[in-house]
Amino acid sequence: MHCPFCHADDTKVIDSRLVGDGLQVRRRRQCTECNERFTTFEVAELIMPGVIKSSNIREPFNEEKLRHGMQKALEKRPVSTDDIEASISYIKSKIRATGEREIPAKQIGNFVMEELKRLDKIAYIRFASVYFSFDDIEQFSKEIAKLQD
Ligand SMILES: [Zn+2]
Repeated sequence: MHCPFCHADDTKVIDSRLVGDGLQVRRRRQCTECNERFTTFEVAELIMPGVIKSSNIREPFNEEKLRHGMQKALEKRPVSTDDIEASISYIKSKIRATGEREIPAKQIGNFVMEELKRLDKIAYIRFASVYFSFDDIEQFSKEIAKLQD
C-alpha cells in the first residue's frame, strides 16, 4: 500500500489485530521512506448483501453512498464524525444480521432513519423528507407530529 503522506510505494505492517467482534482487521502501517504511521481497516465485502432498489434493479451494497446520504442529512449539525462512523458500522451490522443475500433499499433507509432519529432530529427530518415518496407524505406528517410530542 502506498504512503498517504509521501506517496512512497511501500509501507510495512507493524501491528495487526481483530476489532469489531472479529469482523474487521485493524492494521498499523509505517512508511519505509518517511516513517509516518497510519491505520487501515480491512472488512470482508462478501458478507454484505446486495441491494434491491424500488425499481427491482439489484446493485452491490455501497458504503460510500450510505455515508454520503447520512453526511448530507447531518450537514452543519453538531454530530461528530466518530458518531457518524459508529452509526454506519451499526447499520452495516444490522444489514448483515438480516442474514439475507439481498435486502430492499427501503429497509436500509429505515435503518438509516432510526440512527438519524437517535443522532439528530433535524437530520432525521431532512433525510425523511427526501426519503419518503409523495405517497408516504401522510406517514411523514405523522412522524413529524411524533417528534413534536
Ligand atoms: Zn511516506
